[in-house]
Amino acid sequence: MRSYNLGASVPEGAIYKDVVVIGNGPSGIMLSYILAGNWPYYTGRPHPDEMLTARLKGIPAGRSLLEEDLNFLSQGLEGRSNNPMSLLSDMLMHPYADVGLDLPSLLEWRHHPEHQVDHIVLGKGPPGGAWQVMDANILTISLGSWMQLPGVDYRLWEAVDSGSEVLSSRNCRASVRSVARYYSDYVKTRRIGRFFRNKTVVTAVRPMDTALTQCRNSIDPETGVQIHQPEARWQVEGYDSTTHIPFTYVCNRVVLATGANDIPNRLGIPGELDNTDYVIHDLATLEKCLDRLVEEEGIDREGSPCEAQCDPILVVGAGLSAADAVIAARFRSLPIIHVFRSKSPQFNGRQLPEEMYPEYHKVHQMMNDRSASYPHYTAMPEHNLVEICPDKKVRLQGPDGKISVHQVSVITILIGSRQDLSILPSNLNLASDPTRPVDCRSNPVLVDPFSYAAVRAPAGMHVVGPLAGDNFVRFLQGGAIAVASNIHKDKSKRETVL
Ligand SMILES: Cc1cc2nc3c(=O)[nH]c(=O)nc-3n(C[C@H](O)[C@H](O)[C@H](O)COP(=O)(O)OP(=O)(O)OC[C@H]3O[C@@H](n4cnc5c(N)ncnc54)[C@H](O)[C@@H]3O)c2cc1C
Repeated sequence: MRSYNLGASVPEGAIYKDVVVIGNGPSGIMLSYILAGNWPYYTGRPHPDEMLTARLKGIPAGRSLLEEDLNFLSQGLEGRSNNPMSLLSDMLMHPYADVGLDLPSLLEWRHHPEHQVDHIVLGKGPPGGAWQVMDANILTISLGSWMQLPGVDYRLWEAVDSGSEVLSSRNCRASVRSVARYYSDYVKTRRIGRFFRNKTVVTAVRPMDTALTQCRNSIDPETGVQIHQPEARWQVEGYDSTTHIPFTYVCNRVVLATGANDIPNRLGIPGELDNTDYVIHDLATLEKCLDRLVEEEGIDREGSPCEAQCDPILVVGAGLSAADAVIAARFRSLPIIHVFRSKSPQFNGRQLPEEMYPEYHKVHQMMNDRSASYPHYTAMPEHNLVEICPDKKVRLQGPDGKISVHQVSVITILIGSRQDLSILPSNLNLASDPTRPVDCRSNPVLVDPFSYAAVRAPAGMHVVGPLAGDNFVRFLQGGAIAVASNIHKDKSKRETVL
């Protein structure tokens, strides 16, 4: 660990790293795996896309993808991502997965200790990011095998982890509990744990005055060894959430791998923030709260919801998380009022076919059922929750503007979540359309497609994962390859100049 002391510009004891990665979810883990010296190579097997195969065949023997022209390799690729690197990595790791093919990855990973990059991964919880805080009981939207990272086959890992002798079907979804364990286990078994500083919260990321921090060579007065101190361009401040001890890193590059789920969206209505023991904005807390309720009320949780045994659970929202909340309450035989704004909620049955997502189709059917044929489930389309009163009464506004008052036991508001970029300087708006705030789906951070460098930031900042528009684990791996490739190419260029 090297200390970097730049007099007044950097606090005493700041630690220098070539790369600081903020966020220890799948994006941060994948990037750390590559920076630890694990490089991807084309196996030489043909891809069903002949043009892609022709381009891949042009890679000289023994050269990693990281050393290649990624722009050239990803030319003309089409698929379910707007980022060419996401498409390239997905096509190589899951060739033609979208048409149901189950072909082996066309990448193999070789370890090169000499290419290890000095880096640290910081994250609020254990490795796994969002997967460690989601409701462990729900199933992934993606197939289990699409959740995997290089070198550890998810289905094989799952079989070993669960003590099963048979692999789950290729078309199986995974449980969030299992995926969360897979990621923390991955960090251990891939031996990259030494690059992780978990349970740390980053509070500020600032560009540094590079006039004061330019690359220089100096002699260590104690050892007499020549030290090459590369340019420090970013300062990262935070604290250890267990000890509350603050830290500062200075680094040549900072990577935002902070995901998109840290701040649950709120309605902004009276009473929403005052009653946190029964007004809930995430599924994991809801599950615990429902368990408590069942225990307190002595409800027969195995029974069918034929007889309401307590005041209803109010579910607000029309997305998959709200559907999960309905399922969680019904599983415990609890009555439900389900409030959503649209008249007849749409459901993308093409992307989520019924045979794979029966539970979501069921809830969708219930939401659209006008004959109230589901006992103790009341759908209230075209309604808004407008006030939460302290006595657990809620005021709902219908399409005609009329207000109705309902007594409930728990209120769960599941209307999406968003990223927390408050660690950045307030004048740094990284969005593609800088007149609007970053939105992972409609206005992601503007990145260079082949280095994932944030175009609107000072040099040395990269952004990966949902912030860069890669909202699924399957696609975010391309961003990590792009960042690592850019770091390697810059380093090679510098060494050539020297
Ligand atoms: C309910 C739900 C279901 C999903 N299902 C799927 C699915 O089936 N398949 C799929 O591919 N994707 C799914 N996703 C999306 C999935 O979460 C992302 O694809 C993936 O987790 C993104 O990985 P990441 O590493 O970029 O970010 P994350 O997994 O979000 O990890 C980022 C981490 O950085 C931490 N962080 C943020 N700011 C700081 C800070 N200042 N200091 C320290 N740490 C910080 C965050 O707390 C978080 O732990 C789902 C998401 C949700 C919410």
